[in-house]
Amino acid sequence: MMSALFDLTGRTALITGAGRGLGFAYAEGLAAAGAAVVINDLCEENLTEALGKLQAKGYKVRGLAFDVTDEAAVAAAFAALDQDAVDVDILINNAGIQFRKPLVELELKDWQRVIDTNLNSAFIVGKQAATRMIARGRGGKIINIGSVNSQGARPSIAPYCSAKGGLVMLSRSMAAEWAQHNIQVNTIGPGYILTEMTQRLADNPEFDAWVKSSNPAQRWGKPEDLIGTAVYLASSASDYVNGQIIFVDGGWLSVL
Ligand code: NDP
Repeated sequence: MMSALFDLTGRTALITGAGRGLGFAYAEGLAAAGAAVVINDLCEENLTEALGKLQAKGYKVRGLAFDVTDEAAVAAAFAALDQDAVDVDILINNAGIQFRKPLVELELKDWQRVIDTNLNSAFIVGKQAATRMIARGRGGKIINIGSVNSQGARPSIAPYCSAKGGLVMLSRSMAAEWAQHNIQVNTIGPGYILTEMTQRLADNPEFDAWVKSSNPAQRWGKPEDLIGTAVYLASSASDYVNGQIIFVDGGWLSVL
């Protein structure tokens, strides 16, 4: 009973930005729970390396390189999946970028690039996935990757915070429209997790000390810390959970 609740056998998951970092961890975690996975990334080289690692573990996996901000490229990628009869039952909108600059120095083009990659992409990819989920009538799961910055701002990352906050309401809007089709759309809000995106912060002794002292868990998160929540939100165990954000942050946002 318990294992059936979380079993992803027979489902296919598309994870964007999965060539490295947290996206790769989600792909590995969902595959271990039984899902076939389609991993996306911008960079072909990262994709090939990630595919090799997952195939070596015997997982059913394929790669699909496209830019999540390019609507035509996303539509072509889904058309290619249609052609091969690959149905995406689970989508994780994970691709994202960071860009640090004080607001008064920030150029509009950089603001737009961060919003495009972190927020608009979830609309673009989510629309393609949901259109097919609705037509098939078998429901589906969409997980949008927010952040602790979906709730709490920090100086110098305004477009990132705005995009991650926007993702929470995008998830709820998707839930409002698609719950009737048995599609659940939720957000994961990771805390500070050690990946290439955060390596520079971890290398800064002051920032590293701040993370450890302000977080009740007194440590950075590891990519593996996110797997349980991702599998839960991708599985039948969460079939009546919709429009929520789950922070996976060691308790950081819960304390003063
Ligand atoms: P990384 O920078 O390590 O990985 C991001 C991935 O997204 C890369 O593989 C990158 O590809 C890909 N990507 C970027 N732009 C695009 C695009 N336009 N189209 C397709 N793929 C793209 O980041 P993390 O693994 O740390 O972060 C993953 C997600 O988790 C992001 O949304 C991030 O905001 C979020 N997050 C991370 C936290 C952390 O502490 N690490 C905390 C909270 C949220 P390429 O290799 O080609 O650049």
